[in-house]
Amino acid sequence: MTRKRPSRKLQLLVRERARGCCEYCFCQEAYATERFSIEHIIPLIAEGHSVENNLALACQGCNSSKYDKTLASDPATGQVAPLYHPRRHDWQQHFSWNSDCTLLIGLTPTGRATIEALRLNREGVINLRRMLSLVGKHPPQQRSSS
Ligand SMILES: [Zn+2]
Repeated sequence: MTRKRPSRKLQLLVRERARGCCEYCFCQEAYATERFSIEHIIPLIAEGHSVENNLALACQGCNSSKYDKTLASDPATGQVAPLYHPRRHDWQQHFSWNSDCTLLIGLTPTGRATIEALRLNREGVINLRRMLSLVGKHPPQQRSSS
């Protein structure tokens, strides 16, 4: 039986693995006003567990928008799609950046539904991406999650 809350050791592992970036919007904790959360990708209420492959680092904006959702509507088709799962999905399959890396573009139903549901292109995030781009700190170096 897994614990409801991730252990301190597990929380540290998740923070290190994410390299200080929200795993959804790619904001960097070093430039955020609030400490990021260890988020259950599949929520506890939906039988998700506090295990390494079900945890992600998320900024407060993404975490509160996601809440307990695992599905959302693809704005292009209206069809319900699974939200991006940072441990199971390949980021590059579902998302890309626009030319100046200030906007995330959804390439699949999952990508588009996640951008919409988690508001990954909210104004403050776009402004932060723009500012960090000017000093060469955005986009953060990404790695494949698969
Ligand atoms: Zn975020």
